[in-house]
Order: sequence, then structure tokens, then C-alpha cells
Amino acid sequence: KTTLIFKTRIVVIGAGQAGLSAAYYLRQKGLVPGKDFVILDQSPQPGGAWQYRWPSLTLSTVNRVHDLPGLPFGDTLENDHTNVRASVAVPHYFDVYENTFGISVFRPVKVSVVCRRDGRFRVETDRGMYSAEGLINATGTWETPYIPEYPGAALFEGIQLHTKDYRTADVFAGKQVVIVGAGISAIQLLDEVSRVAGTTWVSRKPPLFREGPFDESAGRDAVAIVEDRVRRGLPPGSVVSVTGLPVTPAINAMRARGVLNRLPMFSEITKTGVRWADGREIDADVILWCTGFRSSLDHLTPLMLREEGGGIIMTGRLATQVAKDPHIHMIGYGPSASTIGANRAGRAAVAELMATLGMS
Ligand code: FAD
Repeated sequence: KTTLIFKTRIVVIGAGQAGLSAAYYLRQKGLVPGKDFVILDQSPQPGGAWQYRWPSLTLSTVNRVHDLPGLPFGDTLENDHTNVRASVAVPHYFDVYENTFGISVFRPVKVSVVCRRDGRFRVETDRGMYSAEGLINATGTWETPYIPEYPGAALFEGIQLHTKDYRTADVFAGKQVVIVGAGISAIQLLDEVSRVAGTTWVSRKPPLFREGPFDESAGRDAVAIVEDRVRRGLPPGSVVSVTGLPVTPAINAMRARGVLNRLPMFSEITKTGVRWADGREIDADVILWCTGFRSSLDHLTPLMLREEGGGIIMTGRLATQVAKDPHIHMIGYGPSASTIGANRAGRAAVAELMATLGMS
């Protein structure tokens, strides 16, 4: 039995902010979707990871969703949109975007493996195979929740969840919940869960609260730190972890309610709860790990891009190009792992990849 292989020049994997930005610039350069390039996405709907965000994450509680190139987000919103769910508004935006620019995303198509064959990339999916000269990987982080290892985790008789599993606080009513993490998600979920349940908040390091507005130069500095890491082949770390958390009215209200009392990280998990190194122990029904995500790159394993330290050495103008193989660009990775970063990176990646392929 022969397997049909669809030949194209560039495969884009992922149709979130990063993949759509790349597709926009590929279109601008005159490439025809479905012929010169294909964009594959495993999710059922437009919206990237935004389609999975929990219902209480609204446009007033997200950090900020930056516009994609060529069509402002605001143009696709109703007048009064502050309380609209991000999981509704962003997928609607991406849907309109794909239609406006004729970006036909093949979905749901899950890429399982990418490898090298005869100087080309072979992209294996659950819906057939593709062969391409260039690759733009834009698979985000949502599929790869990170939970640190602690002794006793397997003994715990309660429930362990990750931010990715969170839908609504109601399911925790009356329970004792340990919330782990010091990022935006940890604080937001602590706020919600503490209204209906007993909470204990722990994190390895205290959160970096930031008074006053976030100025652009601080943002640039934060991105520069992550960019420097990936250029040296270190794992990126999150951009948000270096930007700090803005002190919002919601955070002041949490302080007033007395729920922002952080404890240091526990040292082990017991059958009934968690225990600190000094012997202190508490009972818990739930451990909610708000401990972030890692880049979803398992399908690239056969390409052997990683260095010993676990990162990938990135090069190019905005650090989107893989140094070991310049025919691969990764956007939404490292310094471009934000909606604004993904946009800029899409443009740079397309220009550089086309130059590498002799297409510009
Ligand atoms: P995604 O949106 O995750 O898109 C990746 C796409 O790739 C998905 O559609 C997925 O289906 C697809 N995919 C993955 N693996 C495969 C595969 N093997 N085969 C085929 N398809 C695949 N950033 C901001 O700038 N502002 C915010 O307010 C903000 N809020 C956030 C809130 C939360 C809770 C989280 C977790 C992150 C937030 N971020 C925010 C970061 C945000 O996720 C990124 O900025 C941006 O949306 C990521 O876009 P992306 O295209 O890289 O990834």
C-alpha cells in the first residue's frame, strides 16, 4: 500500500496567534495556501489555545490580546465587550481573520512526527503526510502543562489538577484547596477559588508584584532576557515571569480579604495533604498546580534540535530560526511567546525562511 504524500514548500504547524501571523505574511508574499504552503492545526475550531481558556477569563481579566497584522481585534468585537469570555471573543476574531485573508487552515489535523527525508521535511499527521522544504512551528504551550515533581505525589488521595483543567470555582465549594504558583493564573484562580473554598497559597518564589503601569521599556527588557537565553540554547522561561504582576484593584481586594498570604513551597505531598520541611502539615482535598506550561515540541524530537541543557539554540533577527537547521523557524517560542511577540516574529520568520529557500 502506498501512502500519498502531499508536496508543498512550507508547512506551518499551529494556527494560533503565531501561526496565523506567519500565514498572513506568507500570503502577502504571494504564496497560495493549500499549494505553496499549508497550515495544520489539531484543534477543532479557530482560536488557538484561547478556545480552551476557562469561562471566567474575560477581556477585562486577560493581560492583553494584541492585534494580528492587518485586522484589529476591536473591529470584530461588539461595543460592550469587557465581560465577554476570551474563549469566545478570540476564536471569533481568528475565524473572521482566516476568512478575511483566505487562510484555509486544515483542521483538525494533529502532527505526530516531523523528520528529515531526502533533504526535505516529512510531516506525519493523523490525516496523511506532507513533504516540505521549510517548516514554521507555532504549536504554543497549551498541550504541555508543567507540574513539578514532589515526593509523595502518587500517594495523595485527593485530586490534583493543573490550570489547564480549571473550568469554574464552583466544583471546589467547601473543600480545602492548595494553590501552587506565583504567576497571573495562580493569582486569578486563587481569587476565584478562595470565594467558595478554604485556600492555602504556596509558591517557590514570591510573586513579583509591580505597582503602576507596565512601561514599554520594561517589556523590552523582559523580552531581551528571554531572547538572550534562547540564543544561548537555554530553555526559554516565560516572558511573564520576568514582567511581573500588575497590582490591580482585584489584587488589592484579595489583600483586603486576607487571601494573599503566601507560604513557601511544601517539601512533600502526603496521603491527605502537604507537609513542609519543618514538619508542619495541612490537610487538603485538592492541589491546583498553576505552574505553567512548556513548549509543545514533542513532534520535533526526531530532528534532534535540543542541546544538552534542554533548550534549542535560536538565531535570526528575532531569534525564530533554529541554528542547527535554518529551514526551521519557531514562533511563539521564547521571546515571541506573547500575542505581540508572535506577530512580529511571524513577519521576521517568513522573510528569513523564504530567503533561505531562495524564494524571495
Ligand atoms: P496557541 O494559541 O497555543 O496555538 C497553538 C496552536 O497549535 C493550537 O491551535 C494547537 O491546536 C496547535 N497545535 C499544537 N500542537 C499541535 C500539533 N502537534 N499538531 C497540530 N497542531 C498543533 N499572552 C498575551 O499576549 N496576552 C494575554 O493576555 C495572555 N493570556 C494568557 C492566559 C493564559 C491562561 C495562558 C496560558 C497564556 C496567555 N498568554 C497571553 C500567552 C499566550 O498563550 C500567547 O501569547 C499566545 O496566545 C500563544 O499563541 P501561539 O500561537 O503561540 O499558541
